[in-house]
Amino acid sequence: MIDKRIPLPLRRSRSEEIFPALTPEQHRRVAEHGHMRVTQNGEVLVEQGDSTVPFFVVVSGEIEIVRPLGAAETLVAVFGPGQFTGEVNMLSGRRALFRIRATRPGEVIELDRRELQAIVRNDAELSEIIMRAFILRRVELIAAEMGDAVLVGSNHSADTLRIKEFLMRNGHPYSYIDLEKDPDVQNLLDTFHITAGEIPVVIFRGQLVLRNPTNEQVAETLGFNEAVDQTNLRDLIIVGAGPSGLAAAVYGASEGLDVLVLETSSPGGQAGSSSKIENYLGFPTGISGQELAARAYSQAQKFGTEILIANAKRLSCERKPYVLELENGARVPGRAILIATGAEYRRPPLENRSRFEGAGIYYGATFVEAQLCSGDEVVVVGGGNSAGQAAVFLAQTTTQVHMLVRAAGLAESMSRYLIRRIEETPNIVLRPHTEIVKLEGGDHLESVRWRNSQTGETEGHKIGHVFIMTGAVPNTRWLEGCLALDAKGFIKTGPDLSPVDLSAARWPLSRPPYLLETSVPTVFAAGDVRSGSIKRVASAVGEGSAAISFVHQALRE
Ligand SMILES: Cc1cc2nc3c(=O)[nH]c(=O)nc-3n(C[C@H](O)[C@H](O)[C@H](O)COP(=O)(O)OP(=O)(O)OC[C@H]3O[C@@H](n4cnc5c(N)ncnc54)[C@H](O)[C@@H]3O)c2cc1C
Repeated sequence: MIDKRIPLPLRRSRSEEIFPALTPEQHRRVAEHGHMRVTQNGEVLVEQGDSTVPFFVVVSGEIEIVRPLGAAETLVAVFGPGQFTGEVNMLSGRRALFRIRATRPGEVIELDRRELQAIVRNDAELSEIIMRAFILRRVELIAAEMGDAVLVGSNHSADTLRIKEFLMRNGHPYSYIDLEKDPDVQNLLDTFHITAGEIPVVIFRGQLVLRNPTNEQVAETLGFNEAVDQTNLRDLIIVGAGPSGLAAAVYGASEGLDVLVLETSSPGGQAGSSSKIENYLGFPTGISGQELAARAYSQAQKFGTEILIANAKRLSCERKPYVLELENGARVPGRAILIATGAEYRRPPLENRSRFEGAGIYYGATFVEAQLCSGDEVVVVGGGNSAGQAAVFLAQTTTQVHMLVRAAGLAESMSRYLIRRIEETPNIVLRPHTEIVKLEGGDHLESVRWRNSQTGETEGHKIGHVFIMTGAVPNTRWLEGCLALDAKGFIKTGPDLSPVDLSAARWPLSRPPYLLETSVPTVFAAGDVRSGSIKRVASAVGEGSAAISFVHQALRE
């Protein structure tokens, strides 16, 4: 007889997962990698912004984490015996977000980053506890807008959106103050001598103010790249941290290769701008591209991959080791190279388009953009899966979504499940044979005019948000004739390389190129940038993973 009053035993609470206490046996295993340190009441163990951040496990006494702001402090967390400090910055080697202080006399086990990485790589049980806590702590910090940076901007400013996206997609916690909405903003502007015309501004650690910084300046100030040696010879350099590059990084680093990933802006690539990926194996309820990217990024770091936020400007492929020249002037040598630079959005030739980019014209529909147009009407341009996803996602928070497609319908370009969703969503209006002909507005897009190519009629609408999802072109211009490309600029690999391609490239080996190898030995390509690839997350991940097996073979030669 079943007692119906006994509920299902529930799993541990989230707070236990975020702040777990290690068992004495787990303690012992951590202690083998570190050393004991006596702490005094009030002793600062790490200051906000420190570049060397040890990992502490409390043996006795207590440690607190606080965010300093001028003379004031906000309490972030308190750790007692058995609990440990740290979050994902510990793995990437980035600067401390907060101050760490002992609040009682006691003892801690202290480990440096390398020792912690060794535990995370080799002790499966501890790795699971520590990685889960680190990732969840970061998720909570982002949700609570608790970090070391404050962005002051306006939702009508393209640069505000750019910086927001850069910080969000790099998983960096920050707080946002809107010039138009926040009543206390004037005090803050006065304190830092900022005029309204200078926004967006980013205030770092309550001290340093950057006025409308570039993404590179933000990355530099936050110390994203500081822990990465930019001159070391690596086994494998991966260019691009989209799904294919991140998959290759996880497999390469977990199989013992010394891997460096170069990424222009933020991990996740095109997938990172997807509101919900529903066809990726293992996620039956779908996963946002941002979350998938964040998980993959942490996984790659766990195995020791280093990630540099930098733009690869040129590949020097005349002799080995090959060298990647970066925008900042650095030259990074690699024994093997994987090009995973994917593709970027096609920008239709519309007058005023670039003026409104980020101020009414968007190329991705994530949570950030959805917030900007909540309660408004929007236009989605395109008939592919990315346009369909965007329409369904935006329909949840907007009053009406106008879906503009050039063709007669969606059947040829979109997956059946998305077409059904669109048909079942009452506030999505499909407009076939329709194209935008005019964009108008002041600082921000205010109205859109479209034309039906069958009837020739045009209509004007007061709509301030247009999502352009009309396909992508390969990111290969920077390769400058180094590798054989197809007519559309995608990289040819393996059997797609004809004898003519190979002789033009002076292929020097007696063996033909491996499956994902380009016209230059030991230079590989994977994902959307590769000629003939299937433009999907799963195939990009598959190709990135498979490439590692060929990298091993080529490096052994
Ligand atoms: C909005 C949207 C929704 C999508 N939804 C789905 C979906 O639901 N399911 C699905 O299967 N597929 C989906 N796709 C397609 C999928 O995202 C892509 O197929 C996949 O991201 C390709 O991965 P990739 O790693 O090959 O390239 P990308 O994702 O394009 O990543 C390439 C990376 O390389 C970086 N890079 C480029 N040039 C350089 C350089 N010179 N130096 C350094 N870094 C560089 C870029 O910044 C980028 O981060 C969607 C695409 C979009 C745009």
